[in-house]
Amino acid sequence: MGVSYFFDVNIDGYAGVLVALFILWAGVGVARDTLSPLLGQAPDPELVQKIEDIVMSREEIIGMHDLVVHDYGPGRLMISLHAEVDGRGDIFELHDAVDTVERTLAHDLGCEATIHMDPVVCDDEAVDAEHKKLLEVIAGIDDVIGVHDFRMVAGPSHTNLIFDVVVPCGIAKTADEVRAEVCAAVEEQMPGRFAVVNVDTSFVR
Ligand SMILES: [Zn+2]
Ligand SMILES: [Zn+2]
Repeated sequence: MGVSYFFDVNIDGYAGVLVALFILWAGVGVARDTLSPLLGQAPDPELVQKIEDIVMSREEIIGMHDLVVHDYGPGRLMISLHAEVDGRGDIFELHDAVDTVERTLAHDLGCEATIHMDPVVCDDEAVDAEHKKLLEVIAGIDDVIGVHDFRMVAGPSHTNLIFDVVVPCGIAKTADEVRAEVCAAVEEQMPGRFAVVNVDTSFVR
């Protein structure tokens, strides 16, 4: 015997429809939480900032790039990033620092973190000068928002500048077009220098 016994209308029927709607609504919510990250939703800028703060809090880490946030749904957050360290440092100490950062990221943000270490040449005046000049040239090119993993190989006839550039996701140009533009700018403005460029797309902003 239902509530309808006391009323003239069939409340059981309406209640059933309401319960069905509620279940449907909850289901859509769960599906959306699970699917939108998989569909390539950009990570929360606040999360990106927290990750950067934790990584850069270690003095052994000079810079970071190539952050990718893999969000496989609630409670399944994985991140990977590159940490720049002084190439002259002790590999065991640097690895220890990076491991500590991975553990802090897991503890504070609940994410599984994998950090790739990139050695950086520090305190080499010739390399610093080339790097600085390159940054000026790159700053003149639209659509490029960052340069990282800079290396230099000097030869008798020319010098190769090897580096990655980062472009924001959603720009109209292809990676090949950006690469051609960067190479042309370097050859024109830095005589005797050739650019060996890898184009990265930013996944976080
Ligand atoms: Zn790198
Ligand atoms: Zn390790």
